[in-house]
Amino acid sequence: MDEGKIRQLAGLLAGAGRTTFFGGAGMSTEAGIPDFRSAGGLYSRDTGLAATAEEVLSSGFLESHPREFYRFYRENLLHPEVSPGPAHRALAWLETAGYLTGVITQNIDGLHQLAGSRRVLELHGTVHENFCTSCGKTSDLEAMLTGDPVPVCPACGGTLRPRVVLYGEPLDPGIWLEAETLVRQADLLLVGGTSLAVWPAASLAESFRGTLVILNREPTPLDARAELVFREPAGQVLEAVVSLLDIGKTD
Ligand code: NAD
Repeated sequence: MDEGKIRQLAGLLAGAGRTTFFGGAGMSTEAGIPDFRSAGGLYSRDTGLAATAEEVLSSGFLESHPREFYRFYRENLLHPEVSPGPAHRALAWLETAGYLTGVITQNIDGLHQLAGSRRVLELHGTVHENFCTSCGKTSDLEAMLTGDPVPVCPACGGTLRPRVVLYGEPLDPGIWLEAETLVRQADLLLVGGTSLAVWPAASLAESFRGTLVILNREPTPLDARAELVFREPAGQVLEAVVSLLDIGKTD
């Protein structure tokens, strides 16, 4: 780890009026959840179906092949056993200590909130909430684990579906507006663990005109515009910054 760059990042955080974090699946790889586009990510896996992972996780596929969709969804996107990793914990500490205004995430795993982050905007929804397509009643992740294989509403026996934005579906306009505002008001934007390949989410980072820092193992389309680029695991970088700022909890 380059100590000079860690000091620079700590300086940017200390000097910024408002800092926002925008991240994706790479924020959870150190916790044990595979991302999509890295080697070993979900896209490189055989779905066992005549469709790619991206096609399976689409509204059209859910409609035409519900049984296959739910088998794939349970096996690949539900990780109830996983705890927050170093990246999630460090961001929660940064927010608590007043260095971060909020986290905008493309992730659906809920790990930022579990780590203690309070202002989290989930652009693509969450696996922790489901709703019944018949009665509308909501239920938790546990309810998604029952059914053969199509999940069943515990209240009325209708079909459950996750509150997750699938490919081909629009984002929640209220969350999007709040995310745009958070980015517009920031003078420092940290972007981490995202290939910036999924739109419109990536346009949030694209539209930002302040000081940009990228924490991503692989090159991104915005590297050339960034003040600092880190290729090390994001959790290690953020932990080092937290330690330098002396704000991490010790328990
Ligand atoms: P992506 O797979 O396209 O890109 C992840 C990026 O993170 C890659 O460029 C990779 O190099 C980088 N990366 C991986 N581990 C890293 C680490 N420890 N430190 C720094 N960089 C790291 O993911 P995306 O851009 O978020 O887009 C994929 C979509 O998939 C998102 O919409 C997201 O909702 C969904 N998804 C979510 C989860 C989750 O909730 N944990 C998991 C898989 C996919």
